[in-house]
Amino acid sequence: MTGVRVVRNVLTEDSDGSLRAEASDQNETIEGGLVLRSIGYRGTAITGVPFDEARGTIPNASGRVVEPETGNPVTGVYATGWIKRGPSGVIGTNKKCAADTVEALLADFEKAQLVTPVLDQAAFVSLVRERQPDVVDFTGWTRIDKAEKAAAGNRRRPKVKLVDVDCMLAAARGNE
Ligand SMILES: Cc1cc2nc3c(=O)[nH]c(=O)nc-3n(C[C@H](O)[C@H](O)[C@H](O)COP(=O)(O)OP(=O)(O)OC[C@H]3O[C@@H](n4cnc5c(N)ncnc54)[C@H](O)[C@@H]3O)c2cc1C
Repeated sequence: MTGVRVVRNVLTEDSDGSLRAEASDQNETIEGGLVLRSIGYRGTAITGVPFDEARGTIPNASGRVVEPETGNPVTGVYATGWIKRGPSGVIGTNKKCAADTVEALLADFEKAQLVTPVLDQAAFVSLVRERQPDVVDFTGWTRIDKAEKAAAGNRRRPKVKLVDVDCMLAAARGNE
């Protein structure tokens, strides 16, 4: 190991208007004897759900998971976030991405293209709680949000984030 060669990227526009980073011919070598890779992301497959091994994403069209061979949607299966797009963008990008997927899901619901649930909503909630007793629902998230805003006090910042999982769970349960 003698160093790391880095290159300046340029943004190029795809035919669908999306931007892609491409290597330019501007590069430099940073000398060094040891390199530790400390960031990165690669999606992992879920049994029974199509997976694109090359991209590390779940093949989809606007969030609807599709069979890669045929492009046909897999009924009732949707993807959002990095597993849908690959590792790009920030938290805000995922909000828009999730809204797009939910829009597709609601459109399919309206066209009666979803499978009829075999159990009701209460049964689903208990199944999730049984599998993950520490699940945080919307009420719990709202409590965490409130605790983080309260912790900011009058320090001229919107929130002080809770960074400890036990503290988050305590706040979610209302035991601040
Ligand atoms: C080092 C780093 C720094 C970043 N800093 C910022 C920043 O400062 N600001 C910002 O806006 N964005 C930042 N980002 C980007 C941000 O983290 C991502 O945009 C965001 O986390 C992607 O959200 P997601 O829901 O797609 O995936 P994730 O946040 O990765 O959530 C996926 C979840 O699914 C779970 N999961 C995986 N497989 C299964 C399974 N089989 N069953 C059940 N659960 C499963 C995982 O455990 C994980 O909790 C950063 C990313 C990295 C890597």
